[in-house]
Amino acid sequence: MPTASPEAAGSANIQTLHDFMAAANTAYYASRDPLGQAGDFITAPEISQMFGELIGMWFADLALRAGAGERVAYVELGPGRGTLAADALRAMARAGLAPPVHFVETSPVLRARQRAAVPQASWHDDVAGLPGDRPLIVIANEFFDALPIRQYERTARGWRERMVAGGQLLPGEEDCAGAIPIQLADAPLGSIVERSPASESILADLAGRIAAQGGALLAIDYGYEGPATGDTLQAMLSHAYADPLEAPGTRDLTAHVDFAMLAATGRATGLRPGPCVGQGAFLSALGIDARAAALARAHPERLEELRGARDRLVEPRAMGRLFKVLALRHPAWPAPAGFA
Ligand code: SAH
Repeated sequence: MPTASPEAAGSANIQTLHDFMAAANTAYYASRDPLGQAGDFITAPEISQMFGELIGMWFADLALRAGAGERVAYVELGPGRGTLAADALRAMARAGLAPPVHFVETSPVLRARQRAAVPQASWHDDVAGLPGDRPLIVIANEFFDALPIRQYERTARGWRERMVAGGQLLPGEEDCAGAIPIQLADAPLGSIVERSPASESILADLAGRIAAQGGALLAIDYGYEGPATGDTLQAMLSHAYADPLEAPGTRDLTAHVDFAMLAATGRATGLRPGPCVGQGAFLSALGIDARAAALARAHPERLEELRGARDRLVEPRAMGRLFKVLALRHPAWPAPAGFA
């Protein structure tokens, strides 16, 4: 939980990077819609309707093959403007599926946007309020990257947590060797190790639900398969990289997601993780080229726009490789599409 206001975070007092990032992002998301040209960043569902439509088909295919088409709920974590959900639900309706919709969202500004896009949804502050009586298929696009991280630095005195003090990141006093994955314990001096306790605990809660109720979780984000060292904290302001420690609450702070940690956390709670694949491979396997061609036939004037969007989502030099996709499923559920 945030322990200081963003104003306090900017002053000379000392706090962990984790608490700084939690307070800064809470203030940031509570005060604005950060998406789109006028905002700070753009996400896959805002690039093209094809993204949400393909996820809707993925969802319907999985739910129907699991025999859960009548009972399953659509859950989305941090749904932004609700664009992904609106596109996915429209595509699902064509497959005869109209699941109840549950959004986990803390920002009042974005909740209002989501209500305009998906009026029938129910909203929750956290995963605790999700329904307990039915299978859940959970979608998380660029959600985990927004959760606060802890950073640890290998110093001459041992592993220390990084603190924010006077606009700088400095190692704290306490020994933190116990927080470092065993494979990284002997990393060179100056190495940084990141952990996201909020991601781990939200995923563990959801995995417990899915293990008990049935269902699956689809996580899409920029990230890597750890354990690995490296400082991935970044800030986006008006579509450009900015100083993450300056003016907290005015820019989007993110960190890369450790997909191996998500998979291991799910496995420990009884779910079966699939392979982690690039977004390009996933969308290609789901048929983005066929979908782009069908849309271009219906709207020839949009051919160039559709080609550009497809390339941005799929090509390795754009989002295709850095963005990764991981599905975790109930062990009795069939393997989801897109990972072959
Ligand atoms: N998934 C959307 C938006 C990504 S931005 C898209 O792809 O366009 C991150 C989203 O997560 C925003 O909706 C933000 O308000 C929400 N969010 C950030 N931290 C959160 C938290 N701790 N709990 C719930 N939602 C959170």
